[in-house]
Parts: sequence; structure tokens; C-alpha cells
Amino acid sequence: MERSAPMKKEPDQNQPNTHPLSKTPAPADLKSMTLGQLRQFLSAMGEKPYRAEQIYEWLHVRHITSFEQMTNISKSLRSRLEDSAVLTVLRPLQIHNSRLDGTKKYLFALPDGNVIESVRMKYRHGNSVCISSQVGCRMGCRFCASAIDGLVRNLHVSEMLEQVYRVGQDIGERISHVVVMGMGEPLDNFENLLRFLTMLSDDHGIRIGQRNITVSTCGIIPRIRELADTRLSITLALSLHAASQEARRKLMPVAEKYPLQAVIEACDDYFAKTGRRITFEYSLIRGINDAKADAERLSRLLKNKNCHVNLIPVNPVRERPYEQPDREAALAFQNILEKNKINVTIRREIGRDINGACGQLRKSYAAGHEM
Ligand code: SAH
Repeated sequence: MERSAPMKKEPDQNQPNTHPLSKTPAPADLKSMTLGQLRQFLSAMGEKPYRAEQIYEWLHVRHITSFEQMTNISKSLRSRLEDSAVLTVLRPLQIHNSRLDGTKKYLFALPDGNVIESVRMKYRHGNSVCISSQVGCRMGCRFCASAIDGLVRNLHVSEMLEQVYRVGQDIGERISHVVVMGMGEPLDNFENLLRFLTMLSDDHGIRIGQRNITVSTCGIIPRIRELADTRLSITLALSLHAASQEARRKLMPVAEKYPLQAVIEACDDYFAKTGRRITFEYSLIRGINDAKADAERLSRLLKNKNCHVNLIPVNPVRERPYEQPDREAALAFQNILEKNKINVTIRREIGRDINGACGQLRKSYAAGHEM
């Protein structure tokens, strides 16, 4: 992506294989490799290709945490792997249980000491994990806690997968759904995101159906178009939050670069290409975007589109003055959309007591804040 004024600095490049301070390549990140890449890696070591299937299964089905656990792999290969590759494992630093619902928030330490958050949500249809895609975020949305400290770095593929694997292991239940709605802008970490989505849903790994995966974006148009071209059957969620360009750019700096009408067009094209219905997310903020006139404007914007609108009463963020509308105002807003035949739900607020709700994820541990 090109640089744009309102966004924070460029991310460090996300390739795990080169350390910026040394000319020696860092050890290969085994868990970030697709099965094909792992085959190549092993054949370059002079190993038989079928070893790749075995190792892939240890990593992505059994979720082992050390090379030693690969019991069908010879000791000598294991020790050669240990010398030439790393096994990325996330360590839970804290786990918070909501008293209100089955939500659990995990604070994970990355191998380099950075800290990220993931959230497990329990629904009737199964367990969903909300994962982070970056450490911090450079998009600067005014109402979002994740934006406050800017971007630190992109997550590696292994670090995104590990969030799903570790949560699954902790709860001892199958994870059926994944939403990329935690800290970070997934389309700002695009290549890693694509590989993550492929590996999450491929037959040799954890096999989460693409239809059960949702990726949420603030609206980076070129990446939305590229995502459509991949023909992955995932759900795209677009963070809208305002129905006019003028109102949207005040809340979301990214709108300066990618204006509302152009984002809507990109979403229309996404639907035309993929047949996947877009979800529009709209945080209701008292006195900012929650008036009846806003609901009417939103209805006009989305009229006759095959889409779904998720209304999210804005979650409080300490540094920001934004407040939720009262229940009646939210219901009135919803009614207007319904009258205009737009599919709409008010999102159940989950995990609010543990700051696990949308826009409340932050580097709280690293920053020394209490949660
Ligand atoms: N960067 C991505 C995904 C992360 S945020 C995106 O922008 O979509 C996931 C969703 O939570 C987005 O719709 C985001 O706008 C919303 N959100 C952020 N802060 C929020 C808050 N304080 N209250 C409610 N929703 C919030």
C-alpha cells in the first residue's frame, strides 16, 4: 500500500526469514509454511517428501509445542530441524473469563515479547475465535483502542494460526468459526492473511470451512479487489460506521484515501465476483451517527443490496469520549433499516466485563494498564 498522511508509519516487513540487524537469515518459521513449502524445505534438506505430511500434521492437527513430540520423526531429523527452523508457539500470559457469557479473552506472548489478544466466543452454532492480525494498528479509527499506540508489526502466519490452535487446546473443544476482527487491519498484512486463510481451511490442517471465516476491514480498496480475485469463500465485513463521506472521514482517517462511494463500489464488485454477501458493521455512537436521519441515509446507501448490517453499540474506550446510544435509540435505528428491507441485527455485546468486546483490544499488558 502507498503511504498516506493520516496513517502511521509503514510496518516492518513481515518476512520471518530475515532479521533486519543481521545478514544471516533467521531460522525458517516451520509453522508459517504451506504443505508445499514444507515439502520444498525438507527436500532441500535431502529428506523424503512424505515427511512433510507427517510434520504438517504434528504442527497443524496435533498442535505440538516441541520438536521432541514428533515421535514418528527420527531423532536425527528432529535435531536438524531444531538447528535450522523454529517452532512458533504462543504462550498465554493471562486468560480472563467473562462472568456474563462464555467469552474468554487470551493475552498471548509472541516469541519476540510482543503481546496480542484473542477472544473466544461461545455461540449456539459453535466456538468462534476472534484473532489479531497485527501488533497494534496504523489505521487510526477514532473510536478504537487498538489504534491508540499505532502499529508495531505484522503478525506472521504461524502467529495467526497459533491463536486458533491454543484457544482450541485450552477449551478442549473444536473451533468452528474464525473472525479476523481483533487487533490490527488484516488487509494491511495481506500476504500473510491470504496464506493464513488458506492453511486454516485446507484439508491437511484444522479444516475450518471458508464459509465460517470472516475478515473485517476498514476499507482498503485495492486489497478488497485482490481478495475478491482469490475466490476464497470467506465473508467480508466492511467497517462502515457512517453513511456519508463527511461523517466517515471524521471517524476513520482511512476514508480520506478510500472514500465512501468507492468503498461501496468495491463491495458491490466483491459480491458480484464471489456471490458472498457483505456484512456492514456500524458502531452506534451517541450524538455522532445514531440519529434517525443517519438511519435513513444508511438505508439509501444500502438500498437493494444483498447485505447484512451489524449494529454495534460503541464500546467505551478510556481515552475517548464516545458513548453508546440508549437502547431505544438503537432499536429505532434498527427499525428504520428494517422498514427499508435491510437485513439488520444489533450485535449482542459479549465479553464487555473483560474488555473483550470490539475495539477494546489493546496492548494492555505491554502498556502496563490494568484490564
Ligand atoms: N481493522 C479491522 C478489524 C478490527 S476491528 C476493521 O476495521 O474492520 C473490528 C470491528 O470493531 C470493526 O468494525 C471496528 O470498526 C469495530 N470497532 C472498533 N472500535 C470499536 C468500539 N470502541 N466499539 C465498537 N466497535 C468498535
